[in-house]
Amino acid sequence: MNKTGKIYVVGIGPGSKEHMTFEAKTAIEKSDIIVGYKTYIDLIKDMLEDKEVASSGMKKEIERCTEALEYAKQGKTVSLVSSGDSGVYGMAGIMFEVAFKDESHVEVEVIPGVTAANAAAASLGAPIMHDYVTISLSDLLTDWSLIEKRLHCAGKGDFVVCLYNPKSKGRQQQIQIAREILLKYKNEDTVVGIVRNAKRAGESIVITTLGDMLKYEIDMFTTVIVGNSNTYSVKEKMITPRGYEL
Ligand code: SAH
Repeated sequence: MNKTGKIYVVGIGPGSKEHMTFEAKTAIEKSDIIVGYKTYIDLIKDMLEDKEVASSGMKKEIERCTEALEYAKQGKTVSLVSSGDSGVYGMAGIMFEVAFKDESHVEVEVIPGVTAANAAAASLGAPIMHDYVTISLSDLLTDWSLIEKRLHCAGKGDFVVCLYNPKSKGRQQQIQIAREILLKYKNEDTVVGIVRNAKRAGESIVITTLGDMLKYEIDMFTTVIVGNSNTYSVKEKMITPRGYEL
């Protein structure tokens, strides 16, 4: 086979197919083989009936990219799938790094997807209408001191803060510390939205406050959105006003 392969790094969105872009669907259809973490492959398995699939467990990111590159070097069209947007705490950056290091000239194209912050925001109402930041509380690859520094900066700047990777079995303290840091700059009654499994089966939505947020279930399937000083809640919706006079 002398045709050159290609790698699409596909953000499949938060889960259900309605939230996947047409371009993501087309890339998957054009691919000979789909590579990804088993949980994400399972979310789209009915699209993969005639496809070769290489699924793997968690924390195998580099291996998955190397595998995708090998298939592309054999001339295959490969979709490397990630949840949400593949360029937001996803696989896109790692794939470029692996491909450039290999000097293999395989083309890598990133297909954007709906990231968890957008999916969770839509389910809550309109909490990220004004300046917001995303901060991942995972300190597996990032020093915790840097994460703390960014939480302080976000608090100081009165940003809406979207927290990714808020808590897992092995990381229970981070969300508590993050809340304490934000409380140095934000009031206890700051509105907080907690969305678990946004835009996929089993979605749950809670609107609470910075004071009370730890009373609710937060895990690795959850995105937490902490409002700014103008964010309010009405009729079970969380709204950050842009500033229009009504
Ligand atoms: N690339 C992904 C993010 C991967 S980091 C994206 O763009 O969405 C993993 C974290 O994303 C999870 O711990 C959780 O905080 C968040 N997340 C991903 N999918 C989610 C969903 N459907 N609902 C709520 N949070 C989600």
